[in-house]
Amino acid sequence: MRKRIISLLAAAAMVLTGAAATTVVAAAPAAADSCYTWSDTLRRGSSGSAVTQLQIRVAGWVGTGEHLAIDGQYGPATEAAVKRFQAGYGLTADGIAGSQTFSKIYELQSSDCTPVHFTYSEFDANCGANNFNGGKVSAATAKENTKRVMWQLEAMRHKLGDKPIGVTSGIRSVACNSSVGGSSTSRHMWGDAADLGIGANTHSQCTLYNAARSAGFTEILGPGYPNHNDHVHVANGTGTVHRAPNC
Ligand SMILES: [Zn+2]
Repeated sequence: MRKRIISLLAAAAMVLTGAAATTVVAAAPAAADSCYTWSDTLRRGSSGSAVTQLQIRVAGWVGTGEHLAIDGQYGPATEAAVKRFQAGYGLTADGIAGSQTFSKIYELQSSDCTPVHFTYSEFDANCGANNFNGGKVSAATAKENTKRVMWQLEAMRHKLGDKPIGVTSGIRSVACNSSVGGSSTSRHMWGDAADLGIGANTHSQCTLYNAARSAGFTEILGPGYPNHNDHVHVANGTGTVHRAPNC
């Protein structure tokens, strides 16, 4: 009998081992993400570059009028944004970024770390592609700024029912900005702005404006604001300005 119990236990152990091996295999694709891979669960109190990378991806999930600081500190605002992200994608909304949350992010990001529904080329077409050069910051910084805008737009896109959001102007060189009559302080020259033109979107301009207000943008200008009746401008400048008198 004892021998039989031992052999049964051994069989059970093999089954358990098999189950564990299966679990590891199932998690492997996420761990092998080609953009960025998180190795630890992050929660309130965590800090560092892993938190920064997370903040970039949940920055579009703030409350109305809020802007998430990308500062590598997992505080209450980051926790709240993670909760909204989780709820938005049907995950357990506990505010703790673990394997479920990271797997969803891996699903949403391309190998260059941009969200799957937006590409750098959409933002680099104003006045002809210039590969993010010629603005007020280096091309690398302009690209990084643009990537952050893209993640905010990805959140907006999902919240608005997964319909495409069209971008009609992104990074502008200083020369390009003056040629199109942009403001001399336009955030387009920093690469942290996007124009959502009326012809490139099925959503109304006011729908886009209102959605942008809870996607973390500090600068949102739309219908009724001078020169903004045919597009909604979103950006991450310093200071908060949300204006669309006709919405
Ligand atoms: Zn603009």
